[in-house]
Amino acid sequence: MKSSILSVGTELLFGQITNTNAVYLSQQLNLLGIDVLSHYTVGDNPDRLSRMIRQAFLDCDLIITTGGLGPTQDDLTKEVACEVLEDKMVLHEPSKERLANYFNKLNRPITDNNWKQAYFPSGATIFSNEAGTAPGFALEKNGKTIICLPGPPREMKYVFEKKVKPYLEEKHENVIYYRMLRMFGIGESALETKLIDLIDTQTDPTVATYAKEGECSLRIASKRKTLQEAKAAVDEMTEQVVIRVGEYIYSYDDEDLYQVVGRKLLQSGISISSAESCTGGLFSTTLTEIPGISSVFDRSLVTYSNRAKIDELGVDPEILEKHGAVSENTAIAMAEGLKKVSGSRLNISVTGIAGPEGGTEDKPVGLVYICTILDDDTVCKRALIRNVDRRWNRNYTVMLMLDGINRMLDTRPQIEQ
Ligand code: ATP
Repeated sequence: MKSSILSVGTELLFGQITNTNAVYLSQQLNLLGIDVLSHYTVGDNPDRLSRMIRQAFLDCDLIITTGGLGPTQDDLTKEVACEVLEDKMVLHEPSKERLANYFNKLNRPITDNNWKQAYFPSGATIFSNEAGTAPGFALEKNGKTIICLPGPPREMKYVFEKKVKPYLEEKHENVIYYRMLRMFGIGESALETKLIDLIDTQTDPTVATYAKEGECSLRIASKRKTLQEAKAAVDEMTEQVVIRVGEYIYSYDDEDLYQVVGRKLLQSGISISSAESCTGGLFSTTLTEIPGISSVFDRSLVTYSNRAKIDELGVDPEILEKHGAVSENTAIAMAEGLKKVSGSRLNISVTGIAGPEGGTEDKPVGLVYICTILDDDTVCKRALIRNVDRRWNRNYTVMLMLDGINRMLDTRPQIEQ
């Protein structure tokens, strides 16, 4: 089934509100295996709305509209949909009753224009709206279906979830199941190269790569008759992907890396502390995004200067003198010092050159050392980050720290960067 989403409301054209309804409906229709061909947006103008419905029906058989179902004069979606599909408006008694009860309960007088909300095209399937006053409806004619939903997102979602979804599930025969794999440590082109035969030869499941800042995602999707069939196809493809690039995958469920690390720390109860130099607290800011992390996160010491590294972490001044602040020896000394102060089981330190200034030939911008100590295991990693800018360098350093911890918690080998 091919569909289009038509959003009605002058506020949308003025940019006064963001079209979250279209985003939600696109996601939901995709999950149901219904292709979304176009998004249209139109103001509260009946002529343009009518033209847009006719135009959308040229290449799709389902239109879902949101907005313009209210009681006021400019709410015209219902009337226009009725006219385009050549039906006539009639009073729907159950909606009239529900409306009367609603206003009675609120102890508010019902005005004449409110009754407008009880009129529907005679052939419509009505979707009552227990989350508000304007019901939605579906109207079919000659293989074309228009579904009109209220504008307020909470009401629209309620009617879609409770009424429209079962209606659509009954109408069409396929379901889509997909999984989003998240990866760190491999670029999109390298990923594509490793999977090119799978990407090129598959029609179902489909395999598509996406690049996000510093990481990659892979969407594996299948459209089949039943959910079980689609899921089995996605599982089988996932196994093939794992054989090729499994070492880079940190989530099979579209989680962010910090969420994966936070979940594992909380599940294992392993306490953690950090000593940050070049990231200036960004690592702890990221980790503390996770609700409940206080049960395992002890402290982060931002030791930016040499003096702070000596005072707070007990780093030997000779190490700093001999090897410099950005060195393996300093990173190890920072993590060891932190372990003494915090008593946490996992201690992580980071020191590096975030740029844009301060790089040398020996120690260029983007050079970082990360030392992670888990109980008696110490791993110190040197990485040379592709120097984009200061913001990227710091963000990517945090990703490297999280990836290192994640691998250590899983006892998986670290990867070279
Ligand atoms: P009502 O019964 O409240 O009049 P309605 O179906 O007529 O509802 P509109 O009047 O078009 O809907 O929109 C009501 C409110 O819903 C808007 O002010 C806006 O806050 C929100 N809204 C409408 N359309 C969208 C959209 N596409 N995305 C996000 N919010 C929207």
